[in-house]
Amino acid sequence: MNALVWHDEKDVRLEEVPKPELANPTDAIIEVTATAICGSDLHLYNGYMPGMREGDVLGHEPMGEVIEVGSEVETLEVGDRVVVPFTISCGSCWFCGRELYSLCDNTNPNAELISETMGHSPAGLLGYSHLLGGYAGGQAEYLRVPYADVGPITVDSDVPDEEVLFLSDIFPTGYMAAENADIEDGDTVAIWGCGPVGQFAIQSAWLFGANQVIAIDRVPERLEMASDHGDAETINFEHEDVYDRLMAMTGGRGPDGCIDAVGTEAHGMGVAGVADQVKQEIGLEDDRPHALRQAIKCCRKGGTLSVPGVYIGESDNVPFGPLMNKAITVKTGQTHVQRYLDPLMGMIEDGEIDPSFVITHQVGLEEGPEMYETFNNKEDGCIKAVLTP
Ligand code: NAD
Ligand code: ZN
Repeated sequence: MNALVWHDEKDVRLEEVPKPELANPTDAIIEVTATAICGSDLHLYNGYMPGMREGDVLGHEPMGEVIEVGSEVETLEVGDRVVVPFTISCGSCWFCGRELYSLCDNTNPNAELISETMGHSPAGLLGYSHLLGGYAGGQAEYLRVPYADVGPITVDSDVPDEEVLFLSDIFPTGYMAAENADIEDGDTVAIWGCGPVGQFAIQSAWLFGANQVIAIDRVPERLEMASDHGDAETINFEHEDVYDRLMAMTGGRGPDGCIDAVGTEAHGMGVAGVADQVKQEIGLEDDRPHALRQAIKCCRKGGTLSVPGVYIGESDNVPFGPLMNKAITVKTGQTHVQRYLDPLMGMIEDGEIDPSFVITHQVGLEEGPEMYETFNNKEDGCIKAVLTP
């Protein structure tokens, strides 16, 4: 079958690889009908995430049709149409029992590789490095879905792929980011990053009762989508001082909830924005503000900082002093996707939200390698790309 395969930094290729087979009785195999490229894939593409090996199949936002099920699979049948979460969860451990699916204890066979530094490992993730299980991903014609009774949600209605595909990741991720911002009626919420995750965080902030939503980025089309589709006020961080603008918009107090939907960006493993002295020491030339540090600076005293943005390793120089002294609550994590599938599917089927608004590019799988480049460089107005095998 054809698949998008990681070779090296900025080297993704379409290649013929073996079709996946059932490996465990709890597995299913799906024929992929739609699959997206995520901002998280860019951390692999840019070589920030360790543990990638030449030949790894990419992709963690897939959906498709079930073509084979293992002997112990009870909830899925051949022919079912399913969306597959990026988090692989056993459904029966201490964490899954508390709906903390992305922290599942049983799905990262390489847990010892990261628990050595982190103490514990989060769940295994589809198509996301050997440090997180080394599972083949879904930017391919076929995908093996482990724990098929726990992850995939069946799509019973005839709603098109484009409207349900993002249940695999970015819709629940934006939703959990807003939930984690502890939004109360009347709150002001500021969101750093107007990529796909930021766009869904904007939509969700309104759902949780925000009175004012402010979105920050520098890419014009993304700011435009945040304002036109998301009804957010926007700040272009290249043209305006974010702290000054946010203080002017909040009577000097700062936003009640701040969401970092940026994560490790293409500016030196997330260490940009640090003091000049540190910059000199590490030879950093990029002058872009560091979203996480800026969010901490801007957040109101006693406010909440929600971080869906992915950070890798320990290179982030997060200023704990300001967090402590401003009594800021921090909530973060990979998304517990399974927890949100039913309610968000309900919202889509009831026509309350159509997640396809974020799609700007839809191409065949064979155009995947070029799409990675376009999405990474934020070229051609690309906000979200869907690939159809
Ligand atoms: P993206 O790369 O498309 O979007 C990131 C946006 O941040 C870009 O538009 C960029 O211009 C903007 N940006 C960069 N520096 C900024 C700054 N200093 N201030 C404001 N904006 C800035 O990615 P995405 O798909 O939207 O994902 C966003 C983040 O969420 C990534 O780190 C991704 O890995 C992460 N993510 C996390 C989860 C989870 O489960 N927690 C799931 C999906 C994605
Ligand atoms: Zn993703």
